[in-house]
Amino acid sequence: MKTFTDCKEEIHSCSKCGLCQSVCPVYKVTGNDCTVSRGHFIMLRGLLNGELKMSKIINRYLDLCLKCSACTKFCPSGIDVVDIVALAKSEYFKLHKIEKIKSFFLRKFVFDFGVRFCGLIHKNVKSKAFDKKVVYFGGCSGRMQGNSHIVKLLNSCGIEVVSPDFECCGIPFFVRGDMKSFQQYMESFFAKLKETGVTDVVTSCASCEKALKSYSEKWGKDIKPFDYTVKNIYEYMRENGLKPRLNRKLKVTYHKPCNLNNYDDIKWLLNNTYNLEYTEMQNYDSCCGFNGISKIKEYKINSKIFTLKRENIIATGAKYVLTSCLGCESALNIFSLGKYKVEDLAKFIAVHQDK
Ligand code: SF4
Ligand code: SF4
Repeated sequence: MKTFTDCKEEIHSCSKCGLCQSVCPVYKVTGNDCTVSRGHFIMLRGLLNGELKMSKIINRYLDLCLKCSACTKFCPSGIDVVDIVALAKSEYFKLHKIEKIKSFFLRKFVFDFGVRFCGLIHKNVKSKAFDKKVVYFGGCSGRMQGNSHIVKLLNSCGIEVVSPDFECCGIPFFVRGDMKSFQQYMESFFAKLKETGVTDVVTSCASCEKALKSYSEKWGKDIKPFDYTVKNIYEYMRENGLKPRLNRKLKVTYHKPCNLNNYDDIKWLLNNTYNLEYTEMQNYDSCCGFNGISKIKEYKINSKIFTLKRENIIATGAKYVLTSCLGCESALNIFSLGKYKVEDLAKFIAVHQDK
């Protein structure tokens, strides 16, 4: 697996132009160069040159990055800040026992016990059989909510759904710098996918989709047992021309997760669902400001970012804000102040579909 020192060339390719400041949601709130890519890369250069030592303060600045990739899309050097920040954090992780203990508890009590406990309420349902088969990777969201909405929608497209008991995609551990746990989740995914004998994977979470694609393209390409494809459910729905009909008129808006790469398919679905009144909110694609559990401790900064999002949601007059990432869904819920309901898009369509 790539390490922090392998990023030397990319870190040195930052020209310090500062264009990332104009798009970084954290910089817009803090005005502090240490919280944006340019500042990160200056600190990381210092670490590589031996002029600085990895410290709690540097780790905190790295932690403030929301991994939204807004700067990468805008950066003239095209530097992938998300991977570099995670690999730099892994240096801090390796040196601090407390980080390992925190990760252990997170894994055991939140992502294992907690998710399994929530999942006791919603059991998986059996899919109808069709020639075309896909494997459903639900991630933590799927393990808590069950697969019934995915099965219902994909069966309507003439697709059978196989639902193994996958674990987390590992992204929450990757961004903490816990590369060992990330690799274990990746290996668990490969082993369980191999058992199914199916090579097409579907997910409804943008962050899981990004993680599974990164296993194949970057982190696990040398250990993956065979080639597989990953698509999100909205690609299948559009390909199959599925135009759902809701049982009553509902007004919604949509928050685009930073990790989502096919908003066109989502927009097609929102505009082609009968009885759904969709209003695109201003800055529908700006980060929600959450980025996982580690961000709870940065509540003050993140709540400022989220206040802007909440105002944009309220301005649409929609009763529901839909999204496609468990992290965004949690953030939108926490900061909603009861002004609107937050739902996963696939689940919302399946639940409100005409019988
Ligand atoms: S936009 Fe890219 S090259 Fe310019 S300062 Fe930011 S990270 Fe460096
Ligand atoms: S990934 Fe997002 S939060 Fe992180 S530095 Fe880039 S723009 Fe800022």
